[in-house]
Amino acid sequence: MRIFHDISEWRRERVAQVRRGSTLGFVPTMGALHAGHISLVKGSRSRGDFVVVSIFVNPKQFGPGEDFGRYPRDIERDAALAEEAQADLLFAPDADEIYPAGFSTSVDVGSLGATLEGASRPGHFRGVATIVLKLFHLVAPDAAYFGEKDAQQLAVIRRMVRDLHLPIEIVGLPTVRDPDGLAMSSRNTYLSADERSAALRIPAALGDARDACRRGERSAVTLREIVLERLGRDGSVVPDYVALVQPATFALVPLVEREALLLIAARVGKTRLIDNMLLRAGSS
Ligand code: AMP
Repeated sequence: MRIFHDISEWRRERVAQVRRGSTLGFVPTMGALHAGHISLVKGSRSRGDFVVVSIFVNPKQFGPGEDFGRYPRDIERDAALAEEAQADLLFAPDADEIYPAGFSTSVDVGSLGATLEGASRPGHFRGVATIVLKLFHLVAPDAAYFGEKDAQQLAVIRRMVRDLHLPIEIVGLPTVRDPDGLAMSSRNTYLSADERSAALRIPAALGDARDACRRGERSAVTLREIVLERLGRDGSVVPDYVALVQPATFALVPLVEREALLLIAARVGKTRLIDNMLLRAGSS
């Protein structure tokens, strides 16, 4: 697996690769790779793609006071994991090449990017959409792979691709969880042992809501109460939002009609975690 840091060298190589004829699959990440990222690499691989993984901790999607400075970075470990998963190329551009002095253009994703995660993290989805569009131009993939764990991000990317007519297939793949149920996240490394056990209330709460939905409960108000009850009120898990939404628009819905996405964002100590589950009326 070759590693590129320089954009012009990268562009020459990518063109050569496309000429070799395989479809190009792209997995954009911020590094600190875990089994969730690896599942995306394997998903791309299983479709016969030539697989490009990018690693870029994108300053423009972090707000002031967020964890940009302490976000875990270990390019050697990541390169070894990507290679083991049979990625073909790793693209790890430098921030000053991606954002040269005077950089000022950005992608505004409208109301989909302003609600929920976007309301809690103003500018976050503008930063995400901008870097993903830039990487799409640099990598020019046929397909790009994203995790359903970041459900609103996936919806934002799908919307951008549709609205801007980008010739890229967006593939969403299921959330990978640790055996105890916690959704894998690079941020889980911040959790102390006590915080990690408190964080398990998040997947447990989603499971409670799914069970209630299976028993016929469809009201957003009641499902929210079920979630909040499980998250507890002792301060170890502090909900930011708990919301039932329409999966493509992220508009709040009062009922699980056929299906709806249940979202949780919560703070455990200083760490902010998100998770979600698709609920299906009667059968989820
Ligand atoms: P990140 O490095 O956190 O920006 O994530 C890069 C990609 O990996 C995004 O498409 C995420 O949705 C995806 N991802 C992160 N965690 C998981 C997970 N637990 N399961 C599946 N995909 C994930």
